[in-house]
Amino acid sequence: MRIDAENLIMGDGERIKNGSVMIKDTKITYAGESEHAPESTEVKSVNTIMPGLWECHGHYVGVLKLDFNQEFFTHPYHQAMRVAKDAEATLSAGITSVRELGGYGVFLKRAVQEGSVLGPRVYGSGGMLSTTGGHGDMHSLPYSVWAYLTKNSDSWLYNTVDGPDECTRGVRKQLRLGAEVIKFHASGGVLSELDNPINQQFSYEEAKAIVEEATRAQVAVAAHCHGAPGIKNALLAGVKTIEHGTFLTEDLADLMLEKEALLIPTRFIIDESMKMLDLLPDYAQEKMRMTADRHLEAMKLAIKKGVSIAMGTDIAGSQLAPMNRWGSNAKELQFYVEAGMKPMDSLVTATGNGPKTLGARAPKSGMLKEGYDADLLLLRSNPLDDVKILQDKTNFEAVIKSGKSF
Ligand SMILES: [Zn+2]
Repeated sequence: MRIDAENLIMGDGERIKNGSVMIKDTKITYAGESEHAPESTEVKSVNTIMPGLWECHGHYVGVLKLDFNQEFFTHPYHQAMRVAKDAEATLSAGITSVRELGGYGVFLKRAVQEGSVLGPRVYGSGGMLSTTGGHGDMHSLPYSVWAYLTKNSDSWLYNTVDGPDECTRGVRKQLRLGAEVIKFHASGGVLSELDNPINQQFSYEEAKAIVEEATRAQVAVAAHCHGAPGIKNALLAGVKTIEHGTFLTEDLADLMLEKEALLIPTRFIIDESMKMLDLLPDYAQEKMRMTADRHLEAMKLAIKKGVSIAMGTDIAGSQLAPMNRWGSNAKELQFYVEAGMKPMDSLVTATGNGPKTLGARAPKSGMLKEGYDADLLLLRSNPLDDVKILQDKTNFEAVIKSGKSF
């Protein structure tokens, strides 16, 4: 099949006027100027073709609220059933690949691959590694209960580990579940009760043990970081993707450039939370207020310094949630443009830069290029004129995943 378009947005920052993309089975066989494109019996014309979008920081957890305590007491089977619907909403919103950083992604991947569930390609982390008392601990529970629930369980959502040996074992447990990326909390967080987002979590030795074990399996490591000490520790330990990056400084931005690390800003969750602050637990409201403005400054700084950015939202809400709902992912791009990024660069964060967040396992995806996955968006208008068009499905002629149209 050949698709002709006024605009081809290639995924690496290039644009071709009057271009064509050819697909055979699940792969792209040609992407370039129409005048050199091979003939085809089946030709379609659209305004714009671009690669399917990458969400690089999401959670398939089937939750309706941003309250860890409440959601922990919803049955996992119940949450998993909600996730099936969220997967479908993701794909219909033009997201064809998801790096899932804590949740049911490792299982969703299998269900999507076998064809049981309609959804994007999923690269899951399994459980998030956290220190005892850290961002991924449930502070209101007695420790004995928490330890019983998590220490020797499958831990596809939470996995508290302390000391380099437990860190190594924690990574191995996630690999055993099928993790294709490892996630750990290198600083405190906003939605957890007692820890401070500014403080570092995990020592250098612990972070290093996580990175080393993941690297042996050729798996990338994502570090949740707000405070500067956590960002620095993660980078020095060899982490290549910094999530949130709230207290990024000029020096740390330079260190990110030196280490060729990517920032995944997740502005979306902050924007949603600030608009609906009363839906968050009290302690989280306070921490959200404390970090929201600083986060915007950090994002502007990263854009100005030319730090590589990949689009990620921290999206987690199921379809009946009042906020932070899967399918609203593309809103993130608007925030990048508002913070000073060129529209074309914002599209690169969600296309060509997506696979880079998976390190050595980066698939051939996110670009209009021969041999790459045939994951495409066929659009009725040009997102370079306004990236907001990607938030509205009526602008989509079709979402194509693996050569099939949805
Ligand atoms: Zn997250």
